[in-house]
Amino acid sequence: MEGSHGPCGGGNRRRFLKTAAAAGAALASTDALRGAPPATQAKAVVPTVTLGKTGQKVTKLGMGTSWALSPSFVQAALFSGVRYIDTSESYENTKAEKVIGEVLDRTGMRKDIYLVTKNSKGHATGDAAVKVYEERLDESLARLKTDYADCYYIHGISTREIDMLRDPGVKAAFEHLKKVNKIRFCGLSCHDPILPEILELAAEVGWIDQVMIKYNYRDVGKKERYDDLNRAIDKASKANIGLVAMKTQSGAEAFPADKAALEAKGIKAPAGGFQPREKAIVDLLEKGYKREVAAIKTVWMDPRMQVVVSEMTNFSDLRENVAASQEPLTTTEMRLLEQYRETTAHLYCHGCGHLCESAAKGVPVATVLRYLRYYEVYGKRQEARALYQALPPVARDLAAADLLAAESACPHGLPVVDLVRRADRQMA
Ligand code: SF4
Repeated sequence: MEGSHGPCGGGNRRRFLKTAAAAGAALASTDALRGAPPATQAKAVVPTVTLGKTGQKVTKLGMGTSWALSPSFVQAALFSGVRYIDTSESYENTKAEKVIGEVLDRTGMRKDIYLVTKNSKGHATGDAAVKVYEERLDESLARLKTDYADCYYIHGISTREIDMLRDPGVKAAFEHLKKVNKIRFCGLSCHDPILPEILELAAEVGWIDQVMIKYNYRDVGKKERYDDLNRAIDKASKANIGLVAMKTQSGAEAFPADKAALEAKGIKAPAGGFQPREKAIVDLLEKGYKREVAAIKTVWMDPRMQVVVSEMTNFSDLRENVAASQEPLTTTEMRLLEQYRETTAHLYCHGCGHLCESAAKGVPVATVLRYLRYYEVYGKRQEARALYQALPPVARDLAAADLLAAESACPHGLPVVDLVRRADRQMA
């Protein structure tokens, strides 16, 4: 066992601890500074990067806020040097925006932060767009206690909405918001199966300044397997679109496969019990290897990806990610992460639904497995159940679906039959 960050080389490990200590000192100062204007007292330790054509210098680590945020946590992140906040009207049903607004107002740090929020529910088009987008943004700004957002996103654009990007009404709505100084830049977020097409179109239409996409170490450097995604990222990067990665930890967390992990999550182990490759995963984790830290560093190694928005939900994650932003990936981390990637490839859904869903005949496999990940890996059981139950009946009709055919079509060897049935048992 070589500590919580794995068997790094001694020098790297010492450097990491030194950096973590600096980040920890910034966190420790949170209590002392609570309520005081901190801009001059907080020591920023997160490196910055220029975010594409926005030309803005932002920290390469951003704070994801899709969870039950506390004001003290937001403040700790700001005091430890994070200067990029990603939120949405939908996170915690508007509570996330309220908490952020309270902290920015109290600390006086609004001008120090690059603040992104999102239109989640009002994806209007045509003549209605200007009014709808402005009304929803105004509500977000009121909660955030500010009069502008640095960037405003169309949140979670889906396959059926792709034409929105060519819609003159939507473009006019965003141009209007810029003109009246309520936003500085325009963007979108996406983790839909047609993400590459949406990204390419965003690069073509010209009015999108930045895009947030699902991207993790399983996607990095595997051009032979991810040609379409990498081509789209290249195109967006050449168009100088600011690229922001989210769900970088999804690549670290696979569906639990071993008996102990399943039981710890209150899930019954599969009838087959341990398989040799699951045993290999357990051995790797028992070495103390911190795969989440290596995973986030891997994304930063891709020069096209400028910011990582990480959903840090505790002080330990915050401290580790701030420290990780200072340190490149070591060769040991790279080797162990590759080993982990190989041993868990069958336990991670890559979201390439176009490969298996036509065979499944009705079940949107990638979406169902995404909700299962929310349920089992992120522990967001209530939200996952609500999303699953909102799927149309045909998407949950397992008797009519051909899950075995979908399993055969999956190039990554996912046990689609077991996982989809498990999803239905847990979330129906
Ligand atoms: S089950 Fe396999 S083919 Fe289907 S979306 Fe997931 S990884 Fe892709």
